[in-house]
Amino acid sequence: SGRLGGKVIIVTGAGSGIGKATTELFRAEGATVIAADLKGADHQADAGREEDIVRLVEMATQEHGALHGFFANAGISGGLASIFEQSVEDWNEILRVNLIGPFLAIKHAAPVIKAQGGGSIICTASVAGLRSGAGGPAYSASKAGVISLVKSAAQQLATSNVRVNAICPGLIETGMTEFVYERARAKGVEDRLGHLNPLRRGGVPGEIAQAALFLASDESSYVNGHALVVDGGLSSS
Ligand code: NAD
Repeated sequence: SGRLGGKVIIVTGAGSGIGKATTELFRAEGATVIAADLKGADHQADAGREEDIVRLVEMATQEHGALHGFFANAGISGGLASIFEQSVEDWNEILRVNLIGPFLAIKHAAPVIKAQGGGSIICTASVAGLRSGAGGPAYSASKAGVISLVKSAAQQLATSNVRVNAICPGLIETGMTEFVYERARAKGVEDRLGHLNPLRRGGVPGEIAQAALFLASDESSYVNGHALVVDGGLSSS
């Protein structure tokens, strides 16, 4: 029972923040979740490493008999570094985790999801992929890439009944944005962070988890190739 009853779903970046909140919500809604992260989750896996993604997909079929969904959510930020402060190594690592990670998830999960009748793949992008943002140039480029990737994948997988969508969170209070909140706190302008947003507050991980729940469930059966902005109205202001 529940909105995800009977579904087996892999979540990366499940050790903290958005991935952790989503894992908890998916489980509360009846899903079996294979929760993976570099640290702090049930299964240790590097989301940008092909062997690790293959292993997670195999775990789903061997231990649970099926795979219905994949939430490719693991990501890293480039902090406040500018173009002139970033190295090629920085760019390679950010693109590897944030963009090649979702590519590997789609590549290896989609055939297995298709084989059991279809399902849903969700990738965490960002409003930083729609405009510049905190996280730096490589981060924004990687997230713009994710929005593009889900559109291509949705086209290619539509006849397989595998839907592919992205979520674009705004500023959400997690480990990744702690430095933004800390800096504002140190300057005594924490309130201003909220005031930059039309809703006059930052978001919390559970609010992104609710969007992921909709996209993972059959309630979104006609939503495909979409980038769902969940930012309190920030990017439309
Ligand atoms: P977070 O730092 O709390 O969580 C990210 C998790 O990903 C961490 O647990 C980390 O260990 C894990 N991770 C990092 N590299 C990994 C790898 N190679 N393999 C597996 N796991 C890895 O931050 P969060 O805010 O929950 O981030 C989740 C996603 O949301 C990221 O893709 C991030 O870019 C995106 N996002 C966050 C915000 C925000 O404001 N917090 C806004 C837009 C998008």
